[in-house]
Amino acid sequence: MPKIYLDYAASTPCDPKVVRAMSGFLKKDFGNPSSIHSFGQRASMAVGNARQLVAEFLGCESEEIVFTGSATEASNLAIFGTVKAAKVQKFQIITSQIEHPSVLESCRALAKQGAEVTFLPVDKDGIVKISELEKALKSNTVLVSIMYANNEIGAIQPIEEIGALIKKNNPKTLFHVDAVQAANFLDCNVKKLGVDLLTLSSHKIYGPKGVGVLYVKRGTPITPLIYGGGHERGLRSGTENVAGIVGFSQAIKEIQNPKSKIQNIRIRQFKDKLIKTILKIIPASRLNGSLTQRLPNNVNISFEGAEGEAMVIALDQKGIAASTGSACSSGSLEPSHVLLALGLSDEVAHGSLRLTLGKYNTAKDVERVLKVLPVIIQKLRKISGYNQ
Ligand code: PLP
Repeated sequence: MPKIYLDYAASTPCDPKVVRAMSGFLKKDFGNPSSIHSFGQRASMAVGNARQLVAEFLGCESEEIVFTGSATEASNLAIFGTVKAAKVQKFQIITSQIEHPSVLESCRALAKQGAEVTFLPVDKDGIVKISELEKALKSNTVLVSIMYANNEIGAIQPIEEIGALIKKNNPKTLFHVDAVQAANFLDCNVKKLGVDLLTLSSHKIYGPKGVGVLYVKRGTPITPLIYGGGHERGLRSGTENVAGIVGFSQAIKEIQNPKSKIQNIRIRQFKDKLIKTILKIIPASRLNGSLTQRLPNNVNISFEGAEGEAMVIALDQKGIAASTGSACSSGSLEPSHVLLALGLSDEVAHGSLRLTLGKYNTAKDVERVLKVLPVIIQKLRKISGYNQ
């Protein structure tokens, strides 16, 4: 039985073109980009070309791109780096209750150190309430960090509107956006979005793991977190992950390919079919997150009387890889902070299933899920004694 992968929000397989682009830099052109000899120069040129490709995707200058070891590191640099550079005693930062832990935990760490941190609520669809942001903004707000699209429920935030409001309140307040889940599907032009800092991750867009990007708008006050040889304009020391960076830039190239746009239309159709059919054929099921302001690949549904982890295990036994929430929080018994922020009870939040589609899914995969899932839910409900 062929395996079905429906966890593209957790990670994606490398595109074969990415693997091909990387392989030469693992074997032949392995030099250190800082070296003067030809090995080093070839590696340095490759990193430069990759930087240019990422910059074109974001609509910025290549000097504004900082390669990091992950999106987690990029967001940590954005948050701690700008707060450190602000050199003010009493400051506020604003984020949302549904951020990825890489942002949430960074903000919590700052709160522990005495910073004033506002965690904005979201509405029942998972969208940040603009009126709450308006109320929260202060003259000493150093940074606002809001994700473009949520990894658990796919909710898309009105980034342009948020950016405009922040700058209207105080042009000096910096705006950071975690665009990790958005990059495959949404326009990430930093000028259009009106952001100062933006995070990307390679392994969510068919590139290798262990590479991230932080866009830092020219002139943004920011201090490094890692010191050393002064790589990445002094913002992230450490020999560049040349093959990883080349792979990332090839992945960026591929997601802009017209073929990828067609794949995204297909992904959206699969998502729509899954949502519509599951809600119709499985009683006491509910969609989590907005139906319209939603990533084209995200399905997140709660089933009364069935437990998320048990669903994932049962699906895995049938060869289908799914998730209960974000991979980073799996193994934890706490219900998802994102689902709780939507107003779900602990019990309903525990009964949620996330299916995230990608470019290698087929119509057959969708049919198989629709055949297998209702049986699994029925079995689990019987075990839990749930009365339908
Ligand atoms: N931000 C979001 C929205 C994510 O989904 C993830 C990964 O799950 C990250 C950040 C962290 O990415 P990385 O694995 O590159 O650190």
